[in-house]
Amino acid sequence: MHEVEEAKALDGEHYRDSLSNVNKDGKRLWIFAKKPKGSLYQYRTLFAWFLYIIFFATPFIKFHGHPLLLFNILERKFIIFGMPFWPQDLNLFALLMLTFILFIIVFTVLFGRIWCGWACPQTIFMEMLFRKIEYLIEGDFNQQKKLAAQEWNTEKILRKGGKHVAFYLISFLIANTFLSYIIGIDQMKLLITDGPLAHIGKFASLLIFSTVFYFVFAFLRELVCVIICPYGRLQGLMLDPHSIVVAYNYLRGEPRGKASKKDTATPAPKGDCIDCKLCVQVCPTGIDIRNGTQLECINCTACVDACDEVMVKINKPTRLIGFNSKNGIDNNETFKFTLRNVGYSVVLVGLLALLVYLVASRKEIETTLNRTAGMLYQTQANGNISNLYNIEFVNKTFDSIPIELELIEPKGSIKLIDKQIIKIPKDELGKTSFFIEIDPKAITSNQNKVLINVKSNGVLIEQVKSNFVAPVN
Ligand code: SF4
Ligand code: SF4
Repeated sequence: MHEVEEAKALDGEHYRDSLSNVNKDGKRLWIFAKKPKGSLYQYRTLFAWFLYIIFFATPFIKFHGHPLLLFNILERKFIIFGMPFWPQDLNLFALLMLTFILFIIVFTVLFGRIWCGWACPQTIFMEMLFRKIEYLIEGDFNQQKKLAAQEWNTEKILRKGGKHVAFYLISFLIANTFLSYIIGIDQMKLLITDGPLAHIGKFASLLIFSTVFYFVFAFLRELVCVIICPYGRLQGLMLDPHSIVVAYNYLRGEPRGKASKKDTATPAPKGDCIDCKLCVQVCPTGIDIRNGTQLECINCTACVDACDEVMVKINKPTRLIGFNSKNGIDNNETFKFTLRNVGYSVVLVGLLALLVYLVASRKEIETTLNRTAGMLYQTQANGNISNLYNIEFVNKTFDSIPIELELIEPKGSIKLIDKQIIKIPKDELGKTSFFIEIDPKAITSNQNKVLINVKSNGVLIEQVKSNFVAPVN
């Protein structure tokens, strides 16, 4: 048995049965993470700023006078990259979600939870914004611990109070942006110019969102990743020995320990890990990555930077902790696509192609035609037989659209009831009713197929079908 596995077997892998942030009595242990530094941390900071710019700027971007992205759940109005979507496009939304989930699975199988550490909004805001403000106000982890342990005095009130005020203000800013994605930037501007009392519902939502964000970033923190987020908990199902994750190279690192003077006299074999525990101190979820891949690891790479710094100081090669797979460590295997990955990727490409095709061929007008329920047929004054129909149009564009109906089957005519011209307002639902009248001499069956061309400015948009009920002599 390998030394590390032997060690784990001896201690019964007890770390897998407990959480690093919960004590034996089940009480939460607050994690004071050491301030990370290093090249990967710098890349993460840059990437985080790039994501902040996208997040905060997008609500201000308009495309043909409309928001680039809008998710107005209340009014059931959605705009994605300038294209309006309706609840009737639920099939597209379901396919989009399915594609996204599969993309995450493929990505996780290949590269572990890199999404969590580098792109998830929870980590990006927690580690790259709120945590940095905390370091700024309360100092590094040792000063934070000292401050938490000390009696309440002016310094503690000012530091803690200042931190929580700053946290709430940033949460308020995030909530404003978040709400802009739901109601649109124009409505947000009205909320600001008219004052909260004129839009009490929206203002209440803003305060609720702000408080939720504040609670998450000030108190819940890593519990979101470790306990609440289902993605982290599914990690065990997705990863395999080929997956590239943040991993400790136990073959190189073990047996761990500091080289003592005694050892220099009679040197005992030692691995590269000097057991300084810096990798544990910087970990925002409080785990020891040397125990192996754990669901708490969000692949933030803070431990990689910390260990690299140590390796440089002791003149050893870097990346004792780094991106590696289990097979990479055990057998020196380089990154490769397995049959499972190829299978997932093929399905993903197929779903993407289907999604693109469905979006590209999506109709601008969606029509629903129904014969009016509870009615059979009517005999008109001129002897013609008629059926009454209800027709509904969903205008999925930003322009009002004129509609013409052309009866293809059976031979007869369409008589609109309440209007002569159908015009569907932009971005709305339009309804009307009409009769189809047929000369009784043309009737050969009591169930007749109805086929209508729906046109706009002479251009065919779609064909709709129904049936025509008539007496047969
Ligand atoms: S930082 Fe590196 S050397 Fe220090 S304990 Fe962690 S793995 Fe070992
Ligand atoms: S083990 Fe390393 S990569 Fe994983 S969460 Fe902790 S610091 Fe981040």
